[in-house]
Amino acid sequence: MEHVLGTAPHPSHCLFEPEGDQPHSRKLLVLYRDSGRLCLLNRFPYANGHLLVAPVRHAACVTDLEPQELHEVNDLVQQATQILREELAPDGFNIGLNLGRVAGAGIDDHLHYHIVPRWQDDHNFMTVLAEIRTIPEHLEITYDRLLPHFQRLYRLNHS
Ligand SMILES: [Zn+2]
Repeated sequence: MEHVLGTAPHPSHCLFEPEGDQPHSRKLLVLYRDSGRLCLLNRFPYANGHLLVAPVRHAACVTDLEPQELHEVNDLVQQATQILREELAPDGFNIGLNLGRVAGAGIDDHLHYHIVPRWQDDHNFMTVLAEIRTIPEHLEITYDRLLPHFQRLYRLNHS
């Protein structure tokens, strides 16, 4: 898939440390970034609006985070969930951490929350998901829908 789309991040660079320090980047699918945490749109989503929230610092486990870091990450998980609820109106969410390869982590050295919106008709959705995963424009449409919410959040958090 990465070869087809030509969009895979450089393998030597941590996905959760995207280049630059701008709070938003459409190219990198960064919806929100400040000094402590960031939120990305997952390039390989399980569902439309699948977000990833991580601390800025390269840390593998919740036990590696300082209380303030954990607090900031959890705040962003809460705020991102609220944004998804407002913009995409899902019927539910799966929110969680996969810590370690054995637990299903694709990237196991930089912890990240998955926020996956769920709809009653997920099964119908899943049948078109394969197509969505091959058409990067869908990601950009979702990014553009969510971005204004995260821009407002950034202004609110930094005023
Ligand atoms: Zn990292």
